[in-house]
Amino acid sequence: MSRISYLNGKYVEHNSAMLHIDDRAIQFADSVYEVILFHKNRLIDGVEHWLRLSSSLAKLSMQMPYLATEFNEIAHKLFTLNNIETGSIYIQVTRGVSPRNQLIPKKISQTVIMTVIATTLPQLPDKINKAMIEPDIRWQMCDVKSTGLLIGSLYKQKAVDNGFDDVIMQRNNIITECCFSNLFIVKNNIILTHPTDNFILAGITRATLIKLAAQLSLTTKETKFEYNELINADEVFSTSTTTFVRPIHMIDDSVINHGKNGQITQKLFYAYHEYINK
Ligand code: PMP
Repeated sequence: MSRISYLNGKYVEHNSAMLHIDDRAIQFADSVYEVILFHKNRLIDGVEHWLRLSSSLAKLSMQMPYLATEFNEIAHKLFTLNNIETGSIYIQVTRGVSPRNQLIPKKISQTVIMTVIATTLPQLPDKINKAMIEPDIRWQMCDVKSTGLLIGSLYKQKAVDNGFDDVIMQRNNIITECCFSNLFIVKNNIILTHPTDNFILAGITRATLIKLAAQLSLTTKETKFEYNELINADEVFSTSTTTFVRPIHMIDDSVINHGKNGQITQKLFYAYHEYINK
């Protein structure tokens, strides 16, 4: 069966879904995106993802091209057309096509792309998950889910080339997040994570996890922390839509929790699985 994707109102064969070379996404990374998990015939935290998409667009003075109900309808249709029961949808909205010009064109119709892929639900890793530290040299609008992801991509490659799995970033001595996920530490049974501001992406999984932690009577503090607190934490884990809750066992050459998955990390991992299976 062929793979079907969505482009500007049409369901098309994936390999023939083409963008115009003057799309501002290509020239200026003038576009934002979302990735949402689809499981048991629903989009997990769909409303929260639509709200974040709308907020990312608003911060770049763009509008939501469709109503949330229309987005939902297209997403469900794509999963059906591609015969996918558990998977993820990638949605990208660009400002649209216009001859290259630094000034933002007034009348321009947005480009909307949606693709789906089948996925299996992540499991707790059975090998040591290692992260290295790098300076957070991204721009200062990390709260916008922009497609300007080059630093994250270069960092991910650098990690793998150096025998690591991920990069944790640090800006002005403050640990911010991983290149494609949010970061949490646990110290003395208190969970800590960077507050939502312009230096991190407000992860949807992050927000859900804070709610789940509260239901388990665990305390979360949204507060800044430094490298020393990170490497001396009892547990460290990251969160994202596609990886859920992923323990980090080693940071540079510091081993966390004797290289084992922490108790609280595991509790939260299973709570998240339960949450998406409800
Ligand atoms: N931070 C960054 C920089 C990310 O790219 C992502 C995921 N794309 C996240 C955090 C996690 O966000 P979410 O839980 O909404 O997937």
